[in-house]
Amino acid sequence: MVKINPYYLDLPNTYLFSEVGRRAREYQARNPGVRLLRLGVGNTTEPLPPTVIAGLHRGVDRLAGAATYTGYGDDLGDARLRQRIAEVKYRARGVEVAVDEVFISDGAKPDTANIQTIFSQDALVAVQDPAYPVYVDTNVTAGRTGKLLPSGLYERLLYMPCRAEDDFFPALPRGPVDLIYLCSPNNPTGAVLTRDQLGRIVEFALEKGAVILYDAAYECFIQDPSLPRSIYEVPDARRCAIELGTFSKEAGFTGVRLGWTVVPKGMAADAANARSLNELWNRRTTTFFNGASNVAQEGGLAALTPEGQAENRRVIDHYLGNAAVIREGLESLGLTVHGGANAPYLWLRTPGGMPSWSFFEKMLEEAHVVSTPGVGFGPSGEGYMRLSAFGHRADVEAAVDSLRANLRI
Ligand code: PLP
Repeated sequence: MVKINPYYLDLPNTYLFSEVGRRAREYQARNPGVRLLRLGVGNTTEPLPPTVIAGLHRGVDRLAGAATYTGYGDDLGDARLRQRIAEVKYRARGVEVAVDEVFISDGAKPDTANIQTIFSQDALVAVQDPAYPVYVDTNVTAGRTGKLLPSGLYERLLYMPCRAEDDFFPALPRGPVDLIYLCSPNNPTGAVLTRDQLGRIVEFALEKGAVILYDAAYECFIQDPSLPRSIYEVPDARRCAIELGTFSKEAGFTGVRLGWTVVPKGMAADAANARSLNELWNRRTTTFFNGASNVAQEGGLAALTPEGQAENRRVIDHYLGNAAVIREGLESLGLTVHGGANAPYLWLRTPGGMPSWSFFEKMLEEAHVVSTPGVGFGPSGEGYMRLSAFGHRADVEAAVDSLRANLRI
């Protein structure tokens, strides 16, 4: 009889956001007259701007004519889009990335999940704690983490606690480490690594012979020009870092699906191996992936024109405006809040150290606000809540007004 991959049994029973959704639905079923106010999941809400819509239309229209129709494209992505990403996302910021180092994906989540497959099964993995759950769960299913202990920690995973008193800078592991997942601006804390901090981690990775998997999904929210938007702004990072990018948050492509991964040439996992990581990722992509949607890629090209970028900037400013509304509202209640300045997430300290899930229920019961419990992102998230700034302004204001009026603290 066929056997399942046993490591799937080491996963927690539910994905965090499914559990949040389930509890919200159950509350709604018990209280049908209540209007739920959502500051939970990081899903975009605003319509796409005209330049991007025109690009998507162009992609559709090309499918209508025999002369312009395209079927399967290049597995690695449309050469024009790879080129434009290299120019707009990197060269314009003084960073050289070659076109064949850019791999177009259907989003950062799939590539973040899949990138670990090119590394050895016994690789020692370090994650920021708290972290986006995908980094942990995909390594669990690959058999790298061992069992989940009653402490909430996996046996063989290296946790890098990110604490408020250290400005959420990850505590780097003392012993050996092979893969280091980093996310900046961070989901969930909203903290952004400075150039100096990033330089320290790059130096650490080079010393250890480790590879950094740098998730830059929220780079478009960085306002402060002194903060790095790509890990390659630290020059030595080309020797040790893979970067993952997405159009999801910058261009509202959460449903359209488009992203990219940069794997610098010349990076090898171990000296004994002739195959570079770039070659391996190329091989993996051509075998497992048939390329991103041609329509989405036309939209991506439009998003990276000067007009597309200016229009998207206004949408990003809208979300950052929401973040300011949430922050002000929570601070007026005397609560401690981090993040939200260069990121769409706010990281709220629960009052009196109340456990995250208890505060989740309290916000739901008293103010009808759906949030995300910090502990769902890792043990160091206990005692925190993540609030998302994605939403229509009126909905965000209604949620904040309700917290102000109804939350008993
Ligand atoms: N990386 C992080 C840190 C995220 O929070 C998210 C989505 O919320 C993603 C990646 C997913 O990006 P994509 O929509 O491109 O798959």
